[in-house]
Amino acid sequence: MLSPLLELFYPSLCVLCQRGVDRYNTLCEDCLRQLPRTEHHMLRENKVEMLFSDLFSRPRKHWDKTRFIRAGAWLRYDDHVATLIHSGKFFERPELAEFLGRQAALEWQDSGYFDDIDLLVPVPIHPRRLNERGYNQSEFICRGLASVLHIPIDTTTIRRIKNTPKQSQLTDAKRQTNVEHAFNVPEPLPWHKKHILLVDDVITTGATIRNCLKEITPIRSCRISVFSLATAR
Ligand SMILES: [Zn+2]
Repeated sequence: MLSPLLELFYPSLCVLCQRGVDRYNTLCEDCLRQLPRTEHHMLRENKVEMLFSDLFSRPRKHWDKTRFIRAGAWLRYDDHVATLIHSGKFFERPELAEFLGRQAALEWQDSGYFDDIDLLVPVPIHPRRLNERGYNQSEFICRGLASVLHIPIDTTTIRRIKNTPKQSQLTDAKRQTNVEHAFNVPEPLPWHKKHILLVDDVITTGATIRNCLKEITPIRSCRISVFSLATAR
């Protein structure tokens, strides 16, 4: 973030239309309003929820005590949203992910979507990629959510143990095998009897989230919900 003095010379610009905005915003009001909302917070069995519901629909021995509560994405992945998320990821703008997380929380909080959530859990990236990029964009989405919802963020319990190629560079079929066994939860105790919200930036095939869920579902009395900034579904 720029200091007030620097800002006199380098005013903040909307990342989409380049109009001036105040320094706490990365998008102008017009561009923010025009982003395509999914309204998933109002739609049970929405397209994102349907991607995962099979994991929980049949009673299975050690999954009995896990409950899949809800899933949804705030935005539809159109060209504008693609620009936003890619500038968040690749142009060193983590504050953009935080800004969007905050907006999503402001719009969805009254619906009850975030009610009873105990922990916000960003989908982890591998330590090597974290080193290269300097940050995990999903953690910044969580920070934006937390600034409104005042729910703690847990970045340590689930780990990424496989440094996989970027999902966006793969076909649908390869995305599933790419992230298989990519995650683990070595010490699940902090999640017993908790309702965790797993947070990602974009859900396409759902393969990444699905593989996280496979690690989480055996945890006793853990309830799981999913939130994504955008979905290509
Ligand atoms: Zn704009």
